[in-house]
Amino acid sequence: MNKQARCTILVVDDDQGHRNMLRTLLKDWGYEYLERVARHESGHALYEMGFPPELRASCLADGASMAVHESQSRFWENVIGRSAPFWEGLYPRLTEFFPEQLLLRRVTAGDFYRAVNEVKPSLIRVDADEVSYSLHIILRFELEKQLISGTLDPEKLPGVWREYTREYLGLESETDADGVLQDIHWSMGSFGYFPSYALGNLYGLQITRKLRQDIPGLDSLVAAGQFKPLHEWLAENVYRWGCRLEPSDLIVKITGENLHPRDFLEYIENKYAALYDIR
Ligand SMILES: [Zn+2]
Repeated sequence: MNKQARCTILVVDDDQGHRNMLRTLLKDWGYEYLERVARHESGHALYEMGFPPELRASCLADGASMAVHESQSRFWENVIGRSAPFWEGLYPRLTEFFPEQLLLRRVTAGDFYRAVNEVKPSLIRVDADEVSYSLHIILRFELEKQLISGTLDPEKLPGVWREYTREYLGLESETDADGVLQDIHWSMGSFGYFPSYALGNLYGLQITRKLRQDIPGLDSLVAAGQFKPLHEWLAENVYRWGCRLEPSDLIVKITGENLHPRDFLEYIENKYAALYDIR
């Protein structure tokens, strides 16, 4: 079972054994990782739970596509959960649970926000920051195209993975656990799934632009921990369609435009220019 699947079970199960395991995982992987995974998988769950009653018990109660599904998970994981208002609001509560790590070391909410958004190439996709994340997807997409077309011998995959990692991320993977074996997707037959994450980023940020137009006080609501208006907006504009519309039609229905990368690129540029003081 991979990191994400294990954490999903932990956040929904109240069993004492799982609580003990959660303590161990907190020690091994850190709070921010677990919190981020919980937000991601909860984003998927909110989408699935938000399909309207009239679609229930039909094949229309499903995501428009896995890319749209990933837009919902990555929205909560990153757009909301790695935002300054989110941590401003949550941070006082967090310091109650981790006083030694945060208060005694004089870590401020601003320090924490910067730490969870540190841009640093990583060998592991699920640990990647928002800026370098899509490079992990492009790497996998390039390799799976070659595997499917038969131009890449699967036995050579571990070595080719290392070459691409060097080229795309500037890093050396020392073991296959840090390389070709790190994801569950190919081993369970999910070839062609990885682009859903990068497309999800595009869908998510395009939807966010419309969301911000409709709810101008979004940041204040998030800082106050008031997520109901946001959730209601997603239910009304995204969840209620289930898979009645093709993804290309759904994004036009929600935002009035075909899918494009501009909102995602603008989000990355604005957020990280501010964080890294780049003019
Ligand atoms: Zn996901």
